[in-house]
Amino acid sequence: MTNAIFGEEHELFRAQLRRFVRERLTPHVDAWEDAGVFPRSVYAELAEAGFLGAGFPERFGGGGGDLGHMVVMAEELTASGSPGLAASLGSLAIALPPILAAGTDAQRERWMRPVLEGRWIAALAITEPSGGSDVANLTTRATRDGDGWVLRGQKTFITSGTRADLLVVAARTGGPGAGGVSLFGVETARSPVVASAPLRKMGWHASDTAELFFEDVRVPADALIGGENAGFAVAMANFATERVVLAVTAVQIAQMALDATLAYVRERVAFGRPIAGFQVTRHKLADMATSVAAARALAYGVVARMIAGELVIGDAAMAKNAATDACSRVVDEAVQLHGGAGFMRGTLVERLYRDARLYPIGGGTREIMNEIIAKQLGL
Ligand SMILES: Cc1cc2nc3c(=O)[nH]c(=O)nc-3n(C[C@H](O)[C@H](O)[C@H](O)COP(=O)(O)OP(=O)(O)OC[C@H]3O[C@@H](n4cnc5c(N)ncnc54)[C@H](O)[C@@H]3O)c2cc1C
Repeated sequence: MTNAIFGEEHELFRAQLRRFVRERLTPHVDAWEDAGVFPRSVYAELAEAGFLGAGFPERFGGGGGDLGHMVVMAEELTASGSPGLAASLGSLAIALPPILAAGTDAQRERWMRPVLEGRWIAALAITEPSGGSDVANLTTRATRDGDGWVLRGQKTFITSGTRADLLVVAARTGGPGAGGVSLFGVETARSPVVASAPLRKMGWHASDTAELFFEDVRVPADALIGGENAGFAVAMANFATERVVLAVTAVQIAQMALDATLAYVRERVAFGRPIAGFQVTRHKLADMATSVAAARALAYGVVARMIAGELVIGDAAMAKNAATDACSRVVDEAVQLHGGAGFMRGTLVERLYRDARLYPIGGGTREIMNEIIAKQLGL
């Protein structure tokens, strides 16, 4: 299954990225988590080293490659020890695909290149305070105004929102429901959007998350991405990729928690022997390893089918739920097996436990995934 995704080129990319992460990112992640932010220069550094644009076409500033490269990016950036850092660095991977899929060449050139070269930060703004699950009923409105549009409304929980230079925004241009939604590219330097201070969160501390206020934000006519009222399908296709990348990320978090716990139980002594010596411990670890392997196999299988060109919306939802279920269980057991140390700041599994809580929520909740799966079952 693995080989259906990763060839030699991916493995070389992984080895180089892993070294970069170990040398340039991991030494700083504790400080960035504490500060709740990381330097903007990280984007440029990643771009200069040839990593940031992985999976995006070279002719728009990307590094070439495919979804397999994006999977490697998600896994290795998460392996930095800060899933929040990976999330912020990864917001471009959810913001740019709609432009690539439905934008014009002029839009791709104008918006993708500065992001993929690490000069701009991109964010995807869909969720609103009134609700994120029911995307078809979003209320932010874009109204025609002369030769442009005026955006009015509010978005929330937007990753990279406080410092985004480019926002890909879903807004209502037509009537109610999915058929009235369009996507816009908003350059915040030309069309200022008011952003909140970074929202304080349970986890993902190195990632900024913002509320955005569109108070009569004027954008030019060519800010519209794809057809008028045709944004919903583009956003939905984008979600399938986002979900499978979230799935592999959750698997990676689970793997990291498993690895940290395997090391800990060999060292930690109770009642005169390493706690790995207790059968209950060994069985917990066996179950954890099994959950991780099963979730990874499903997620990689879906990635392989996506690379082959299949549209696998229902299966991507399954992969996300299987991975986030496995991850939730594994990080919980990991904390338990660390005892009190697992509850302490500075222990890796403590951060993973907090960060893992996001994955059954972000990119579509566990319940919404089940709605999609049920639809695939014909229910
Ligand atoms: C840290 C973080 C980063 C995020 N980043 C982004 C981002 O970059 N861009 C972006 O657009 N959004 C982002 N989100 C938003 C995320 O996608 C939403 O939080 C998510 O889709 C859920 O929406 P909601 O929070 O409004 O919950 P709601 O939609 O209000 O749901 C609340 C509860 O009701 C349940 N529910 C809702 N409808 C149904 C139903 N039909 N059947 C059964 N149960 C249902 C949900 O499953 C959930 O349990 C982010 C969120 C977080 C926490």
